Amino acid sequence: MKSVLTRGWEAIRMGIQRAEHVLVATDFDGTLAPIVALPKMARMAESDRQNLKAIVGNPEFSVAIVTGRRMEEIRRLVPVDGVYYAANYGMEIDGPNSFRFREPTGERAQSLIASLAFELDKAVSDIGGAVVENKKLSITVHHRNVEPKWVSVVSQRVKALTDPGVSAGTIRVREGNRKAIEVVPTDTNDKGKAIGLILDRISEVRARPWPIYLGDDVMDEGGFRVVNDHGGVSVLVENENPVASQAQFSAASTTEISQILGRIAAVSQGQPWR
Ligand SMILES: [Mg+2]
Repeated sequence: MKSVLTRGWEAIRMGIQRAEHVLVATDFDGTLAPIVALPKMARMAESDRQNLKAIVGNPEFSVAIVTGRRMEEIRRLVPVDGVYYAANYGMEIDGPNSFRFREPTGERAQSLIASLAFELDKAVSDIGGAVVENKKLSITVHHRNVEPKWVSVVSQRVKALTDPGVSAGTIRVREGNRKAIEVVPTDTNDKGKAIGLILDRISEVRARPWPIYLGDDVMDEGGFRVVNDHGGVSVLVENENPVASQAQFSAASTTEISQILGRIAAVSQGQPWR
């Protein structure tokens, strides 16, 4: 894949030049914030926050954070006024000018998720390091801190409990490359749908945006697809296990994402980029 710092940057610069409005959409974990052993310890750099603030300060730019995390968490982790937050894979979206979207099927999904999270928690409670995170509209089973020999046991137990739902078509289970298993109800949003909703909203209140999406995981593929369909630029951070991806460009690490955000911020302020 071509590097975001060379060919990718050419495409981004040209896109920004031609666009009436630009949407910079990004995932959080593994993209803005380096992956850490405990998800609650994840932090983005202060310089990234300043750059996002500068970008969103230009009325011809919008910024969206698109994440599997819960709304209150992502607001705390990325405290920048005026950005769109798409939480829980887009089940919940908050944005500027009182924009608020809640997936209508969310309540049914919540009760499904609550009982399944309870069962999963019981099922892996004897395995050290396994953590079941109930995010209300989805579940993450973290096994980053599980001893390697026990990881397959975690997977088997999750599979045993989720197989009926998968067969019935009520849930999807995805093993990401983040050492975690994601359980998401099927009648819900994904990141691609979330970005589509945000693009529609910006078209209504501003102008038709030209989009960029930055992500690092299989859960970001929907985002890459939508951005590609809109003639935008998609960037995959290749942190750990490079995967086949629909993204057009690659970043070697979150550091390269910081560099790109710095350049976009400079351009958005009419300054030369370095
Ligand atoms: Mg990620």
